[in-house]
Amino acid sequence: MAIAYLGLGSNLGRREDFLRQAIEALEQTAGRLLKCSSFIETAPWGYASDHPYLNAALSLETALTPQQLLKATQQIERRLGRTLKTTGGHYHDRVIDIDILYYDDLVVSEPGLTIPHPRLHQRRFVLEPLCEIAPRVIDPQRHLTVAEMLSRLDG
Ligand code: ADP
Ligand code: MG
Repeated sequence: MAIAYLGLGSNLGRREDFLRQAIEALEQTAGRLLKCSSFIETAPWGYASDHPYLNAALSLETALTPQQLLKATQQIERRLGRTLKTTGGHYHDRVIDIDILYYDDLVVSEPGLTIPHPRLHQRRFVLEPLCEIAPRVIDPQRHLTVAEMLSRLDG
């Protein structure tokens, strides 16, 4: 069993519903939910959009390998995305994004999968919810805690 930390985001439609559905689906297909942060509203990062995000972070106890976990999260993304499409929604921004932030203290660097998630340390919308549930978890690459990385963002 491993402990994985995931970051979730949604900026389209019923954002809270999408986060809740993703969490439920993760519990059914990926592992046991240990902790979940509150849902935090943030501005789109890296691109212009009128739709603010709702972000969350959670921890899972999982028997899946990192690669299997990525597959499971991508399946859930597709499933929730398709639901929106068939109900006639737009498909520009994101109904749901699920990123693997940490997987135990593993460092993975392969095509299609990088853990810890790249740019995590620069993103308030990732670090803020993550810090709610895992302030003392240590980043295996930077050797800083999540709380330390968040406070460095503050300047
Ligand atoms: P982003 O999350 O960077 O905004 P996407 O969700 O569209 O973008 O993901 C793009 C690709 O990132 C995916 O196809 C996936 O293979 C890859 N990827 C690499 N590392 C990770 C990770 N740790 N978690 C999730 N996806 C990852
Ligand atoms: Mg993603």
